[in-house]
Amino acid sequence: MLLAQAGMNVLIVERGAAAGSKNVSGGLIYSKLIADIYPQFWAEAPVERAITSHGLVMLAENSSVGLDFRSQASAEPPYNAFSVLRARFDPWMASKAEEAGAALITGVTVDALRMENGRVAGIQAGPDEIAADVVVVAEGTRSLLLKNAGLREDFQPHDVSLGVKEVIALPPSVIDERFQCSPETGMAYTLVGSTCGIEGGGFLYTNKDSLSLGVVVKIDSLYKSKLQPHQVLDAFKAHPLVARLIAGGEVVEYSAQTVHRGGFHLASRLYGDGYVVAGSAARLLMNNILTLRGMDFAILSAAAAARAVLAAREKGDFSAAGLSGYTGFIKQSPIYQDWETFKDVYPLLENGRLFDLYPNLAAEVMEDLFAPGSRAGKKALASLREHLRGKASMLTLAGDLLQISKGMVL
Ligand SMILES: Cc1cc2nc3c(=O)[nH]c(=O)nc-3n(C[C@H](O)[C@H](O)[C@H](O)COP(=O)(O)OP(=O)(O)OC[C@H]3O[C@@H](n4cnc5c(N)ncnc54)[C@H](O)[C@@H]3O)c2cc1C
Repeated sequence: MLLAQAGMNVLIVERGAAAGSKNVSGGLIYSKLIADIYPQFWAEAPVERAITSHGLVMLAENSSVGLDFRSQASAEPPYNAFSVLRARFDPWMASKAEEAGAALITGVTVDALRMENGRVAGIQAGPDEIAADVVVVAEGTRSLLLKNAGLREDFQPHDVSLGVKEVIALPPSVIDERFQCSPETGMAYTLVGSTCGIEGGGFLYTNKDSLSLGVVVKIDSLYKSKLQPHQVLDAFKAHPLVARLIAGGEVVEYSAQTVHRGGFHLASRLYGDGYVVAGSAARLLMNNILTLRGMDFAILSAAAAARAVLAAREKGDFSAAGLSGYTGFIKQSPIYQDWETFKDVYPLLENGRLFDLYPNLAAEVMEDLFAPGSRAGKKALASLREHLRGKASMLTLAGDLLQISKGMVL
């Protein structure tokens, strides 16, 4: 959109039958950053609900322990976050690019980046070759075009997770009552545990007349467990809390996609002669269990890429040198600043205690505190020590709590 607005000839090629038809996302989008690109988008974009409530819940075997945050301020502009369904939201974004003068073709797969004298010089789709001064590669996580052109290295299994997601239809009135929302507002749950001990987490977001529910689990850990992704999702849905929240709903959509842990450590590979890479193709996202932000990272990195392309056009130089401003534009962007703030929490993804030991520990302590029995009551710390014995030290717990608190950006 930004390139077309600046008068460039832009062609958007999408392999799905429509924009958004192939995209997988939980659908929680943070509005303040997006509003920099699409001012007051909520007034016209097909958003689902303004998210005014966040639940952060640990799922133990038969119980759950959580935090519930409700904010009336988030029900008003500029809001904080919205739930969206990509099949509805993406066509709106595509229409904005078209209004600005870009041409969109759907149902066409780009087979390869067209190379000329060692530089990217356009795209190839079936028998058609289309020349371009610059290609903005925004092909998503698998980034096969970049791989096949030798423009990215292989992924490491420990960097990759698999997300499986369902959309579950429920009448709006049931959602309003069950999640204590108004018809315009909604709830977002981050759920840790009940993923068969596999490193990862779950989410449950309210849409207008459906729920988006899913788990994102580390691929290497899933592989070791010998479980299929749908088995992990079924176990997650069978947890008493989750089962109650989705009761009576009908699964109307199922999708799965890989997702990276993300980061800016690959900034040097964001551009080259004749191309720039944006969004999750460049692994620009934040995925640390407590947060999975990729849509705002994709939109803002695309905006930074557009600035770099416009700067290159000024110089009449679409080589790597001409496009090198991209790194600087990315670093000025709030997504980079958020990444800098939270980048040290990634070991959370590898901390097995978080997915099994701690949810059960929290539940056991709560049982002691809230269910007086025949034995003498215990103070919280004594209960914690007792249930932790033989499983982990208090020092380990304190270190993990510190790490978790650093990772909280909901
Ligand atoms: C289960 C799950 C839950 C998530 N939850 C959230 C969330 O709640 N909030 C959030 O912000 N992020 C979330 N994410 C991450 C987020 O969805 C991604 O980071 C984001 O969609 C990346 O956007 P993108 O445009 O870079 O890539 P994509 O959304 O993957 O878009 C790539 C597009 O390129 C097209 N394409 C690919 N190859 C070709 C080709 N060769 N020719 C033509 N077209 C092609 C695809 O069809 C697709 O439309 C989640 C991810 C998963 C998997």
